[in-house]
Parts: sequence; structure tokens; C-alpha cells
Amino acid sequence: MTQDWKTRTKLVHTGARRSQYGEMSEAIFLTQGFVYETAEQAEARFVQPGPDEFIYARYGNPTVAMLEDRIAAIEGTEDAFATASGMAAVNGALVSMLRAGDHVVSARALFGSCLYILEEILGRFGVEITLVDGTDLDQWRAAMRPNTKAVFFESVSNPTLEVIDIRAVADIAHAAGAVVVVDNVFATPIYSRAVELGADVIVYSTTKHVDGQGRCLGGVICGKKEYIRKTVETYMKHTGGSMSPFNAWVMLKGLETLDLRVRAQATSAQAIAEALEGDPRLSRVLHPFLDSHPQQALAKAQMEAGGTVISIDLKGGKEAAFRFLNALEIFKITNNLGDAKSLVTHPATTTHQRLPEDQKVTLGITPGLIRISIGLEDTDDLIADLKQALDAI
Ligand SMILES: *Cc1c(COP(=O)(O)O)cnc(C)c1O
Repeated sequence: MTQDWKTRTKLVHTGARRSQYGEMSEAIFLTQGFVYETAEQAEARFVQPGPDEFIYARYGNPTVAMLEDRIAAIEGTEDAFATASGMAAVNGALVSMLRAGDHVVSARALFGSCLYILEEILGRFGVEITLVDGTDLDQWRAAMRPNTKAVFFESVSNPTLEVIDIRAVADIAHAAGAVVVVDNVFATPIYSRAVELGADVIVYSTTKHVDGQGRCLGGVICGKKEYIRKTVETYMKHTGGSMSPFNAWVMLKGLETLDLRVRAQATSAQAIAEALEGDPRLSRVLHPFLDSHPQQALAKAQMEAGGTVISIDLKGGKEAAFRFLNALEIFKITNNLGDAKSLVTHPATTTHQRLPEDQKVTLGITPGLIRISIGLEDTDDLIADLKQALDAI
């Protein structure tokens, strides 16, 4: 029955567990431990917990389990494990399955912290990494080796919004026996078709669209039951990266409105990208669904909408970018995204500041580049704010 529900119904109901009080809203089980009625019950639970039997919040918790079930249901995976942040999810997804001597191929266009996990942490423990241009399938093919255990990429890259062909990369990876791990934040769980396209493991920072109101950190790893419960859960429960019950509750409430919010934000983002395109003060307007995007056809085949983020490149470089940012009235300068509030980020001096200059050039992170996360405000108000700030430079 629940299998047949559409996303919006699942977002409101799937995974709900009610206590003996029959509470309407999902309860926050703010408890780290669970009481056993007898010593025998404690012993049995440590041997093998039954369904909905909990031991310790680092291992699992009823509120967290509701969130895991709900996210797995909308993503279309057998199971999910909720983590303390998006980075705990990326780290857990990869480190839990890799060992010294393994090889990982990853797209180069990555969030700084993901690069740190791949190159610094995994490298330190004897895992070899090859970085490729994620949009170049020949580079993926050439990078595969007999010991390639996993491939990793952001399906839509931050901040230049390149689209990676999930199906094509998954085919290459699977032919080499490698697991496909996708960081799917920019696609959002609403527009994700990652499972259908061949991804094995899908990671989200729920800090972004799932909370969507700028309150809590969180992450989730989605995949097959065997991988989630045997590989990921074992690693996470012993290393301490599980999500707190309170944050899981905030995320559950976020999921109830996720579809409405993401669709409204994505519709607005596309209208704003179209309104900005051709402005003489901009050298580039980046959005996966714009006619000018080199991968528009792939984006349309892979996602139902272009997402909630656009990036623009100001011809006047850093100076113009800073004047533009400082002149905005509705948009807030910050480094989050996917929020109800519209947000702007200057990647070259903040999120990607530490990248060497040549890497910034390779990744298209120019001094004039600004990432814009479109929120829930009125689209015309947002366009007017962007236009007046462009006038101010
Ligand atoms: C934000 C983000 C992360 C990290 O998530 P946190 O919740 O901040 O730890 C990872 N990948 C992508 C693509 C992100 O946007």
C-alpha cells in the first residue's frame, strides 16, 4: 500500500511511529538510552535488535528512524542512515566501505570538505584517488583500474552547476565493479532520479533543502539495506556521527513541506535566471535549464527542474561582485543554500577561498562569480533586488 504512494503523501506520512498516546505530530524521542525490562531482554537486544528495538541513540533512535524511513521511501532506496551533518554522510558513505589499497575516482568539481576527505583523509590511509573532469566520460573511462572500489561526484556541481551524466558514469563504474556514490544536494530529493539512473549510494546534506529553514545540520546516506545496516551503521555507530533526535524531528517537519518549497524555489530560480540572462554587466548566467547551458539536454533528461540555485559572473570581477553583494537588500550574504530565505555567496573568497589559483581557474571559480540560492520570497521582488544591486555597481 505505502509503496504506491506518491512523493507528497510519503513526505507527510511514511515512517511515522506513534507512541501509546497517539500523538498527531511525530514525537521527539529525546533520549540517548532505552530501558530493558529484564537483563535477558538487554542481552537479546545486543545480540540482534528486532524491528523498532533500540539500544543507544548513537546506534539508532525512533525519531531518527522515522526520518530514515521517510527519506529512503522518497529516494527509492531500501534504507537510509541519518548523520550529524552532510559531511558526516559523505565521510561515512566512503570511509565505511574503503580500505588501504583501494582506488577511488572522483569528479574534480567538489566542495572543499569533500576534497579534504578524499585527498587528505583517504590518502593518509592508503586509498588512492584520481580526480577527473566529471563532464568528460573519456576521463572516467581512462581512470578506472582493477582496484577501483568507488566513484564519487556531485550530480550538479557547486558552484558552477555542471551536470554529471549519472547513467553514463554509473555504466562505466559498474563495468569496472565500482560502487557509484552521488552527492545529490543540488538536484534535491524532489528532482532526484539517481537510483533509476544507476547510483548505488546517494548522499544528502539535509542542512540544505530538507531543513530548508536554516536551523539544523544534518545528512543522510541512502542505499541498499545490506550496505546501510552492515557497512554504514557499523561504522557510524562506533565513530559517533549519528544524527541527534531533535535535529531528526526538525528534518521530519521540513520533509512535510519539501515538495512545495523546492518546486516554488526552482520555478522562481528559472524565472530569475531567464530575467538575468543577457544583462550587459554579466559575462555568464549559469542554471542547468537555461538554453545557454551546455548540458541543458542532459539536465532535462536527468532532472524535472533545474534546481534552486543559479550562479552569475560579473564582468567587473571581485570589486563589482562585492559592490553587488553589499547593495542587495533581500538576499543575505552567507554560505548556506536551499533556504526559504534567498542567499548569496562569493565562492572565490569564502567557500572555495583555499583552493590554489590554478584550481579556481580550472573549476571556473572566477573573481566575479556569485552563487545565488533562491528562496520563497516573491519572484518579482527578488528580480527587482538583483537589478537594483546590478545598477549599484
Ligand atoms: C553543504 C554541502 C555538503 C556538506 O553538508 P553539511 O551539512 O554542511 O555538512 C556536502 N555536499 C554538498 C554538495 C553541499 O552543498
